[in-house]
Amino acid sequence: MNAIQPTGIGVDAHCHIDLFPDPLTIAAEIQRLQIHTIAVTNAPSVFHFTANLAEHNSFIHAAAGLHPELVKSHGRELPILMELIVQAQFVGEVGLDFVTTNTQERIDQEIVFGKVLKRCADLGGRVVTIHSRRSSGRVLEMISETNPGSPILHWFSGPKKDLRRAVQLGCWFSINPAMTRSQSGQKLIAEMPRQKVLIESDGPFVEQDGNHITPALAQEVGAYLAEQWGCSRQEVHSIVETNFQHLSKMKSNS
Ligand code: MN
Repeated sequence: MNAIQPTGIGVDAHCHIDLFPDPLTIAAEIQRLQIHTIAVTNAPSVFHFTANLAEHNSFIHAAAGLHPELVKSHGRELPILMELIVQAQFVGEVGLDFVTTNTQERIDQEIVFGKVLKRCADLGGRVVTIHSRRSSGRVLEMISETNPGSPILHWFSGPKKDLRRAVQLGCWFSINPAMTRSQSGQKLIAEMPRQKVLIESDGPFVEQDGNHITPALAQEVGAYLAEQWGCSRQEVHSIVETNFQHLSKMKSNS
């Protein structure tokens, strides 16, 4: 496990490094620009690739996950994830995706997510980056029942009442450039407490000017936040980095 270095100039709290066409180029850029990156994975069986990248890069923090949309095809890998969480301080991508209206699929997602949250809680807490599309109410209920450590709501898009509930529960929020460009995203960002805000790329899935977004390009969120918060970009990045250090410590101290 790499120690968290205090020198980083950026934060990307949710990036799928392993899904870029050239992950090694992304990893090199993260190192060069010193961007603390939570490298999420979508299935336990592919975790070793990202864990390997993190071994050689102190700014990459490998997260073990099982994406809710892959529960149907990869749910059998849950026992592997339960083992990986013992060692991994970061967990994700996990959560619920209720775009599916299939009741059984939703139940299966809840079973997996519930077990992951409980595992994190039993092991003293983890940093968990969480998907909550069309399911934020249920996700927050499950977080409040288990207390998994430091939950980060990635690309939060739920109703305002759920945002307020998330704040009460001490959740963190990672904001990507697509959110800063949508009206609904902007309204939610305005209500997020700045001591709980992080920046994310969700690369390579977010597009920026026709290209895959990268951890470096995602730092543009800082310009938007500077305008909203009425402070300099440097102050924004300092706040976001302090937030990252804080949430990382919370899981190791608990
Ligand atoms: Mn993602």
